[in-house]
Amino acid sequence: MIEQNVRRILSQLPGGVKLVAAAKTRTTEETLEAIAAGVEIIGHNYIQEAERAHQIIGGRARWHFIGHLQKNKIKKAAVLFDMIETVESLEMARGIDTRCARIGKVMPVLIEVNSGCETRKNGVLPDEVEGLVRQVSALNHIKVEGLMTMGPLVPHLEDSRPYFSATHRLFEEIKGLNLPNVDMRYLSMGMSDSYKIALEEGANIVRLGSLIFGPRA
Ligand SMILES: *Cc1c(COP(=O)(O)O)cnc(C)c1O
Repeated sequence: MIEQNVRRILSQLPGGVKLVAAAKTRTTEETLEAIAAGVEIIGHNYIQEAERAHQIIGGRARWHFIGHLQKNKIKKAAVLFDMIETVESLEMARGIDTRCARIGKVMPVLIEVNSGCETRKNGVLPDEVEGLVRQVSALNHIKVEGLMTMGPLVPHLEDSRPYFSATHRLFEEIKGLNLPNVDMRYLSMGMSDSYKIALEEGANIVRLGSLIFGPRA
């Protein structure tokens, strides 16, 4: 099933769009099945879970962190991941920068945008993204490569479109600033239910879990 799902999704994604298999709660076997079918990027929300999978799968995939990064997990995240999609504060960026400096790595990151301006939601308010990117651009062991958003939970799928299009506009604005250490290439938007709308609104990374692996328990 996983294999067929991955092949179908990959054949339908437009060229240049990257698929992240969101692997939280899935077994290493399931994740390996997705990789065998063509998945190249694994997304994880939890460091411990990622660590276990990474020990077995290692370099057979690239690893994106897509969860909420706790301060005491930054050290491990710096080692494990090829991209952190969920940077949401200068403090977090500085933590990643410090760790990466020690291990001689430049971490590609996306800034997570709280596109719905929700009070208890991760991410940076749209109005504050430019300021954060300007500050992060001063850090030499982090490279800002784009924006990520979840968008709010909406009653109807179509309702997510304005949040995606607003995030795309923000992406273009920041790209136009031509800041150092900033290379705006990726717009990570859309999950299993919403990715088609996200693609129409300019996403070039989609993060799919249930569509690949089936419903989560
Ligand atoms: C779980 C998760 C996804 C995938 O969700 P599905 O609805 O299963 O496709 C995408 N992005 C993030 C940040 C997630 O935590």
